[in-house]
Amino acid sequence: MIYCVEDEKNIRELIVYTLEATGFSAVGMEDGKALFKSLKKELPELILLDIMLPGENGYEILKKLKSEPETKNIPVILVTAREAEFDKVRGLDGGADDYVTKPFGMMELVARVKAVLRRCARQTEQRELTCGKLRISVGRHEVFYGEEKIELTRKEFELLLYLAENKGMVMSRNQILGHVWGYDFDGETRTVDVHVRSLRQKLGKAGEMLETVRGVGYRLRGQEA
Ligand code: CA
Repeated sequence: MIYCVEDEKNIRELIVYTLEATGFSAVGMEDGKALFKSLKKELPELILLDIMLPGENGYEILKKLKSEPETKNIPVILVTAREAEFDKVRGLDGGADDYVTKPFGMMELVARVKAVLRRCARQTEQRELTCGKLRISVGRHEVFYGEEKIELTRKEFELLLYLAENKGMVMSRNQILGHVWGYDFDGETRTVDVHVRSLRQKLGKAGEMLETVRGVGYRLRGQEA
């Protein structure tokens, strides 16, 4: 799913139409408000973000996206009216993956989208997180403690990955539920407790790093005690 934030209706519809014609699913929205509303329902693979928008501009929206753990890894391509008006440093230092200048050809846009998605897939494939001797290979969905491989279910893996991405921070049950099970998941927070318990068991000694913070949630420490 690709989100296209663009206030000019004609351009927005053309982009969405082109993306869908090339095999992507795409949804258009007119401003930042609509974007953040949609993000609560579903996280896209990529966001095409116009800079000149009513309300919050593209730079401000980008900054917000990059400051939230749920959205900071979503690749963003900035769309700018004229190169001269585009603050490249502000855009790329702000975490944008690429930018395109209007008027652009639709095939050029599709090529940029594909390139950014490929690059991000490669980064994810190679990405590894560590907490002490615990090593999480993001792309391969594998977990090692020292040399020993730990077999986890898909949800246990996603739970561990989420805590490791936010290591040292306490994540509430609702945050975990929203991230690992999806925002629309109509479950109970007890689901989280059950999975934490089995995850902790499978992690063995490394499970000691997974702390319960009473009345708040869970935290993965960055190191063994
Ligand atoms: Ca605009």
